[in-house]
Amino acid sequence: MKFNASIEDTFIWTNNKNDSYTTKSACHNSVPTLSLLNYRKMNPSASCVRCGLQDETFLHCIRDCEFSRSLWHYIGFTNPNFFSNMDVYDWIKMGTIGTHSLIFSAGVWWSWRHRNLMSLNNETWSLSRLSFNIRSMVETFKNCFTITPNGGSVDRFIKWNNNNFSCTILNVDGSCLGSPARSGFGGIIRNTFGHYLAGFSGYIQGSSDILYAELYAIYKGLLLAINMSIDELVCYSDSLHCINLIKGPQVKFHMHAVLIQDIKDLISQSNVSLCHTLREGNQCADFFAKLGASSDADFTNHDSPPEGVQDLLKNNALGILFQRD
Ligand SMILES: [Zn+2]
Repeated sequence: MKFNASIEDTFIWTNNKNDSYTTKSACHNSVPTLSLLNYRKMNPSASCVRCGLQDETFLHCIRDCEFSRSLWHYIGFTNPNFFSNMDVYDWIKMGTIGTHSLIFSAGVWWSWRHRNLMSLNNETWSLSRLSFNIRSMVETFKNCFTITPNGGSVDRFIKWNNNNFSCTILNVDGSCLGSPARSGFGGIIRNTFGHYLAGFSGYIQGSSDILYAELYAIYKGLLLAINMSIDELVCYSDSLHCINLIKGPQVKFHMHAVLIQDIKDLISQSNVSLCHTLREGNQCADFFAKLGASSDADFTNHDSPPEGVQDLLKNNALGILFQRD
C-alpha cells in the first residue's frame, strides 16, 4: 500500500493521464468502466479486474462488486433494496435525495476512487480508511452547505433579493476607495423579477467617510423611489450599522444625526421596509457606488443600465447564487 503521511489526501482523477477531471469522462453514461471501454473496443475485456465475476458496468463497479458492496455495508447501507435497483439514474436519484444524501454522494465518489486505486495503482485500502475519507468528505459537504434548522435553505448562497420580496426592490451601496480616498454612492431599482427600472450614482466631494456614503445612498435611493411614485418598496443595504442607526431610537448626538433623521422621516412617510443584505447580494449597487466614486458628478440618473452592470443584472434576474467569501 502506497501511503505517505506527509501528503494530504486530495481529489485526483486517476482515469486521465494527467489526473485531471473532465466531466466528459464521468457523465452521460460514459464513466469509463471496462464494460464501456470494451464496448468501444478500447479494452480487450469487459470483466471486472477486481473480482473477475461479472462485466464491469457502472453499478457493478460502484455498488455490486464485492469490494464496493462491503464498503457500502460498512458505512451503513445494508438494506437489500439499496442493491436491487438496476437503473443507474434511479439509483443515484434515490441516493441523492433524503437524509443520507451526503454520505451516499461521498460513498459513490470513494467507491469509484477505490476501484481506480485498485485497478490502476494496485492499491487496496482498508474499509476503515475508506470510511474515514467518506466521513471527512461528508464534513466538507456540510461545511459547504450549512443547512438551517428549518431545513433546506442554504445560507452561504446569497441572491440579490434574498428574502424573495414581491415588490419593487431598491439596492443601495456606498463606496470609499483609493488614496486619497474618493467616496461615492449608488443604487438600483428593479421589479421583483429583476427587471431594471432605474439606477443612480454620485460622487461625494471631500469625504472619506464610508458610513456617510452608505447613509447618503439610502437617502438618495429613497428620494428617487418616492419621485417614481413606487407604492411598495424594499430597500436593501449591506451596512448593518446604517440599518441599526435608522431603525434604532432617535439619535441626537451622532455626527450624521440630521441625515439619519431625514431617512427616518422618508421611511415613516412611505411604504418602505429597510433590510440588510450581504455584500454578495448587493453587487449591482456596489457597481453604481463605485461608478459614482469615480465620477465627478454629484448625481447621475441612469435611465438604462450602464454597460458594465448588464451581465450582473442578467445573472441576478436568472437567480444565480453568489457564494459568500
Ligand atoms: Zn467486480
